[in-house]
Amino acid sequence: MRLSQFHLHTVKETPAEAEVVSHKLMLKAGMIRKLAAGLYTWSPLGLRVLRKVETAVREEMNAAGAMELLMPTVQPKELWEETGRWQKFGGQLLKIKDRKEAEYCYGPTAEEVITDYARNELSSYKQLPVNFYNVQWKFRDEIRPRFGVMRAREFLMKDAYSFHVDDESLAAEYRNMYDTYGRIFTRLGLKFRAVFADTGAIGGTASHEFHVLADSGEDALAFSSESDYAANVELAEALPPGPRPAAAEAMRRIDTPTQKTCEDVAALMGIPLQRTVKSVALMGVDAEGQPQFVLALVRGDHVVNEIKLAKLAGLGEYRLATEGEIDTHLGSEPGFLGPVNPKQKLRIVADRSVAAMADFVVGANEKGVHLAGVNWGRDLPEPDDVADIRNVVEGDPSPDGKGTLGFARGIEVGHVFALGRRYSEAMQCTVLDSSGKPVMPAMGCYGIGVSRIVAAAIEQNHDANGIIWPEAMAPWRVAVCVINPKNDTNVATAAEALYRELNAAGIDTVLDDRGLRPGAMFADIELIGIPHRVVVSERGLAAGSFEYRHRRASEAESLDRAALLARLGAA
Ligand code: ATP
Ligand code: MG
Repeated sequence: MRLSQFHLHTVKETPAEAEVVSHKLMLKAGMIRKLAAGLYTWSPLGLRVLRKVETAVREEMNAAGAMELLMPTVQPKELWEETGRWQKFGGQLLKIKDRKEAEYCYGPTAEEVITDYARNELSSYKQLPVNFYNVQWKFRDEIRPRFGVMRAREFLMKDAYSFHVDDESLAAEYRNMYDTYGRIFTRLGLKFRAVFADTGAIGGTASHEFHVLADSGEDALAFSSESDYAANVELAEALPPGPRPAAAEAMRRIDTPTQKTCEDVAALMGIPLQRTVKSVALMGVDAEGQPQFVLALVRGDHVVNEIKLAKLAGLGEYRLATEGEIDTHLGSEPGFLGPVNPKQKLRIVADRSVAAMADFVVGANEKGVHLAGVNWGRDLPEPDDVADIRNVVEGDPSPDGKGTLGFARGIEVGHVFALGRRYSEAMQCTVLDSSGKPVMPAMGCYGIGVSRIVAAAIEQNHDANGIIWPEAMAPWRVAVCVINPKNDTNVATAAEALYRELNAAGIDTVLDDRGLRPGAMFADIELIGIPHRVVVSERGLAAGSFEYRHRRASEAESLDRAALLARLGAA
């Protein structure tokens, strides 16, 4: 490609709407332009990068034995009703109507469509195992689309779905996909980690997320200092603490006229935050399905983990209690509530660390008052449930017993999921097994955020001058820059020859023949992140050399033709 014939449109100003560096640089480099919230046009430059990612994903999926097909973006409501997800998927589902008032959604994922395809296509165990994938646009009506294509509403996903006659076969393919994802992200030149993930509302047996490590990542990851344990913080288990010490203090009232938070109360009393207990009032359901008031207790310095809490019996669909409900059950207003002397019987769910505390501080269910020296069994009954309901914190022991947990941030770029039979059961997808008996196939699903990877790679690879593409993702690997092509035809001819030679050798090369002044030309080439820059100038030609510089190098070097070709891998 010759840049004189290419639509490259870089901008100098830093766009005000961009919060993260990848979004800024994608706009400055002219890779994307916003159409509406979470909707972007990919420019010719942006599309080159997107296609490189897509190609790497496709080649590795094919090599792993998966088969590409293509499903529509628009999906009929009836399929989503079979799995109950027309309602359950919630506000992220973009629902649309055709001229006959028939309802559809723009697919946010394709489990329903592929299971429908499978129940019509697959009839015998002989056709299994099989793994179908497509690279297709998805739409999710995200509450807060942001960070450009990182959390967009329309985005490109590679989604794969496998079908198996038994669980062993599913486990083998899960492993195969796990390994394939490792190869894809390695090939793309990204620093990544696979972490245990929550199987969440979809259910299923095993799940790993693949994260590109970056400080700007939305997800918190927990790592062991001593082993390869890594998990999303949402999932990492907080191990039980040691035994509860004996009570040493009498229970007493503390005046806390304006102190409503554990932090404020601890500061007033001059005690560590770890001695206080936070009470969170919730409404769940009891064994009979009746509304049940629940007080969840975590240590003052801990944070309640909503996913862990939702896994407790009766709390699947819990919500925060209203001020009225808090008053009815505790006779308190928020800020001073606690588990001692409630007005009505309630269910107390204590985090493991709270159940192991003695002489702690809680709200007194009375405005302006807290209680100190509180002890289980003496001042209030033992908790109804003791469970892990908090987020792990830095320094907690690793759940595998080896080392302590440290934290890092990540961007989720892939997700592998052993689904089991949830969709095949809901949609009556069966095949005949070797004895001729109909069985429901076990399924796996495997997603990669193709468009998100482009932004994630920039978060990890940039400097003050712009993007630094890993080789496999660069729009072009090499830029041949011509100084004053109009003044000197020898220079233009030599640059043209080098450009042709590199492309002929399979090295994706762009010729910057726009005739810009060197400063402006180099600024563009750095901004758009081309890994290798070669400058062809009159002076260099006279000396028989080219000026070469890697995007990460601080200095340019002078190389003769053979050394240059060797450096670029063309010789
Ligand atoms: P997230 O937790 O980031 O919302 P998710 O868990 O909902 O993602 P999956 O359903 O696992 O996402 O989808 C597979 C992949 O699609 C994700 O790993 C991610 O890379 C990508 N993806 C999901 N939502 C978006 C989005 N709004 N914009 C861009 N990529 C996305
Ligand atoms: Mg996910």
